[in-house]
Amino acid sequence: MEKKSLEYWQNLAASLHIEGRAFIDGEYRDAASGNTFDCVNPSDGTLLAKIADSGEADVNAAVAAARHAFETRVWAGLNPRKRKSILLRWAGLIRAHMDELALLETLDAGKPISDTTSVDVPGAAYCVEWFAEAIDKVGGEVVPSDHHLVGLVTREPIGVVAAVVPWNFPILMASWKFAPALAAGNSVVLKPSEKSPLAAIRLGQLALEAGIPAGVFNVVPGAGGPGKLLALHEDVDCLAFTGSTNVGKLIMQYAGQSNLKRVWLELGGKSPNIVMADCADLDRAANSAAGAIFYNMGEMCTAGSRLLVQREIKDKFLDKVVAAARAYKPGNPLDPVTSMGAIIDEVQLERVLGYIEAGRKEAKLLLGGERVDQASGGYYIEPTIFDITSSDAKIAREEIFGPVLSVITFDTAEEAVRIANDSDYGLGAAVWTSDLTTAHEMSRSLRAGTVWVNCYDEGGDMNFPFGGYKQSGNGRDKSLHALEKYTELKSTLVRLR
Ligand code: NAD
Repeated sequence: MEKKSLEYWQNLAASLHIEGRAFIDGEYRDAASGNTFDCVNPSDGTLLAKIADSGEADVNAAVAAARHAFETRVWAGLNPRKRKSILLRWAGLIRAHMDELALLETLDAGKPISDTTSVDVPGAAYCVEWFAEAIDKVGGEVVPSDHHLVGLVTREPIGVVAAVVPWNFPILMASWKFAPALAAGNSVVLKPSEKSPLAAIRLGQLALEAGIPAGVFNVVPGAGGPGKLLALHEDVDCLAFTGSTNVGKLIMQYAGQSNLKRVWLELGGKSPNIVMADCADLDRAANSAAGAIFYNMGEMCTAGSRLLVQREIKDKFLDKVVAAARAYKPGNPLDPVTSMGAIIDEVQLERVLGYIEAGRKEAKLLLGGERVDQASGGYYIEPTIFDITSSDAKIAREEIFGPVLSVITFDTAEEAVRIANDSDYGLGAAVWTSDLTTAHEMSRSLRAGTVWVNCYDEGGDMNFPFGGYKQSGNGRDKSLHALEKYTELKSTLVRLR
């Protein structure tokens, strides 16, 4: 398909109406306080819109609407086939509004338009379709039991699900929560990141148009802490969170301080990408290693931010990685040829630059290291690669969430696994080798929720559960396993005589 031009996107942006109000009980509303916060375009620093800063009254209204919808069974009580058809209509509307939603994501989060049109928005529509298609096919169990009993084991929607999500894949990460939650019959209150609320807000109107009843899907943007209010709320049954490990820890505490709501966490990562000397295709591995860290400006929970390379191929391989990294040139995210957009905001920009400064002191800079195109008013950092001498280096241990790669050298497979697992995180890992035994033995030993062999970040299919070991979280997004998070398991024992 031919790519639309920069001019096309600029014209569309100029004519765009941006909705900034919360979506509660089937209608757009200003915050009860009247407060707003600024939504800024990271590609040039300009103001995009004023967004409703939802506070306690708004969160309470959204939760009450969600509770009312759940109790009156307007959604949970539908035949799953009916829920499916409505969700499919919603997915169809998301596809029909592809350009608008992709543009909102690009303006809001600085992501290249070529990615938001090919990954983020189609991925969200596909996620809704997948769970819609699943929900009239999964049933319960009739379990072995005493002769006088009929034993049923069923899953029921949990009630009011709050979804608190980050800014790196705003609509996609949100869909990984709300699609299974809604398919299972729950009501949802979605809290987008204050750094990227636009597409989520727009989805509210499309949900209504699709026929999702008022109160079933609500969106409460806010900079002043609606996430915390939801996590502490006594009438929220489940909080599904994607974000940083630090905030994830707080969310667990809030659940403990309130009603012990179910908490599901998808958190940070510092994923190892291991290249063995017997890797069959170093060019492919190098391109993939660059993509693993520089795609989406490195703002990836699964970023392959630690590149572990076996000593005998190190020099040859790093030359290829550096060459591949040069293809990621920061530029205007609205330009369809741009492969690397802007960092989400000034705070994150400074954070990443701080890590780069630390890296200069503790490692050897191989590429990049600078903020670029400052005259645009946007927040751009070039692909940056460090050769690490000690795996204790700060930049090799902490999640940077930016385009900074740490290269670590190893000698044996055992050493590679030890370094790879020596992390608080366990989200993703990869190993490149042409030896089948090495591939299987290493992938078994790697403590991560996803292991890629001879690839990285593959798995657009919804069939693969996604989530982390250790401090990368609990529970899993995607796949039928995700439905488990949004349902309670019930045993029903029917005595016959
Ligand atoms: P963040 O933790 O700062 O914020 C995530 C969300 O939590 C936002 O909506 C934010 O407003 C909200 N929040 C902030 N403080 C809160 C509090 N005290 N109580 C309740 N909610 C609160 O994370 P971020 O900067 O938006 O996103 C980056 C992080 O997300 C990275 O660590 C990244 O690895 C992680 N992430 C993980 C996955 C995954 O699937 N594992 C996917 C994407 C991003």
